Amino acid sequence: MAIMDRRTFFGISAAGALAAASTTLEGKVPEAIKDFVKDKSLKIKFMGTGSAGGIGKNGLGRRHSSILVNDDFIIDFTDDSLDMIPAGVHPETIFYTHSHKDHFQPSAALKIGIKKVYLSHSWYDIAVKAFRQAATEAGAAMPEIIPTYFGMDVKVGDVTVTPLLANHPTDYIYEEAQIYLIEKDGVRLLYATDTSGIPGKSARHIGIDKHREGYGINALIMEATSSDPDDFRLYCHSSTDIVEKTVRVLLKTDRLHMPEGQKVYITHMSRKLHPKNINETLPEPLRAAEDGLEVIFRAP
Ligand SMILES: [Zn+2]
Ligand SMILES: [Zn+2]
Repeated sequence: MAIMDRRTFFGISAAGALAAASTTLEGKVPEAIKDFVKDKSLKIKFMGTGSAGGIGKNGLGRRHSSILVNDDFIIDFTDDSLDMIPAGVHPETIFYTHSHKDHFQPSAALKIGIKKVYLSHSWYDIAVKAFRQAATEAGAAMPEIIPTYFGMDVKVGDVTVTPLLANHPTDYIYEEAQIYLIEKDGVRLLYATDTSGIPGKSARHIGIDKHREGYGINALIMEATSSDPDDFRLYCHSSTDIVEKTVRVLLKTDRLHMPEGQKVYITHMSRKLHPKNINETLPEPLRAAEDGLEVIFRAP
């Protein structure tokens, strides 16, 4: 297949074909293009898009928020999403945003064979203790636990992950919850859960505040725990209006520069705090992610 053909394919896909579920691509795109898409893009599978309530016993909720990046590593994981790992995929690396139980569950990580764990140095001791206990109980090997620091990137294969600061308190006063910049092949995706807005220090580091020239990110997944602007969780979570404002400002000033047709996905939604027809209530380019949704991000 000639390179030209591939370019033509991308030329006609502006309406967001690549931002659609990759299962569509799997079904219709010739082998050579599939490889190209895989090589020059970043694939995210939402393995959970809910808040602390999770899927619940009645199965009506959303699984705890968790993503699979490029079929290679995971950010946050609990028992809720055990059924979400694709067949034949065996991620061995996990990042944890913070210690809350809807994100951090060592026993679940051990069940799927995680061998490498990255989390903020600020709660390293707590995490080591929790993993040691879970490993003893499960009779599993203790994974390697590696402390991370603000702005110091971590490479996993050909993906670069930069830990950033979240605005999200936990039970441990010294713990710093993290959001992440995830980069591959020119894609700069900010994955921001759990956090109330984007802290200035993180915004500056990734180039989306007023002091930088040019765009800082070209893809965004952000939490919206509730849809009520007056929700009391104002100081630890975002609501849809916070995401709307963030996106409006970043797009207007070209600090978020997305390919045509690409959406901003919201996650970490509480079933009780959002309407059922959530996508009908969101303005463009916002979309509520769904458990199991796969999105292919590419650079503009
Ligand atoms: Zn949470
Ligand atoms: Zn939390």
